[in-house]
Amino acid sequence: MATKRADIDPQQTPASLDECRRCALWEHATQAVPGNGPRHAPIMIVGEQPGDQEDLQGKPFVGPAGAMLDRALEEAGVARKEVYVTNAVKHFKWEPRGKRRLHKTPAQREIDACHYWLDRETGDVAPKVIVALGSTALKSVLRDSKATLQASMGHALEHEGHAIVATYHPSFALRAPDPETRERAYKAIVEALRDAHRLVARHRK
Ligand code: SF4
Repeated sequence: MATKRADIDPQQTPASLDECRRCALWEHATQAVPGNGPRHAPIMIVGEQPGDQEDLQGKPFVGPAGAMLDRALEEAGVARKEVYVTNAVKHFKWEPRGKRRLHKTPAQREIDACHYWLDRETGDVAPKVIVALGSTALKSVLRDSKATLQASMGHALEHEGHAIVATYHPSFALRAPDPETRERAYKAIVEALRDAHRLVARHRK
């Protein structure tokens, strides 16, 4: 677990993710959670922010949403080695509810502040296709605070030289109130991953 320091100047360009003070989310998180996967993975998957388990383990997509993503990747025929996974926001934002820490959606200013890191990862990995899971990820990837899933799903978008595929976040497919919505959301995620795979294959021809 990273040591948390309060004496770092928030105006300075952060030397590392753990030293980032570009917004206030670092303060109540256990640690920053960087992306994970091969350096030049053709597909980058962007989620919203670390959840409870990710925050404790320091790795993205290791909780229930991660397990669903793994299942969807397998069903879509996408190998894990083809995929780099990360989040739009690198520290866990939460509120207490009894003994539990409940997820809280990041504010636009936090998404904007953390785009610095997503931009660096996108430059390093240089993916052919970016899959945005949920509207926070989509807003960050497109740098458009008004972007909506509704307007962006079902067709690939183009942004700064990357193909962008938008779909639901696995958490939505886990927590939607009725089973039909959960099933429909899961199928949409699998279909989006298939689309991403097809776009990569087309790029290689
Ligand atoms: S959430 Fe992002 S911008 Fe905010 S402190 Fe953490 S790493 Fe920095």
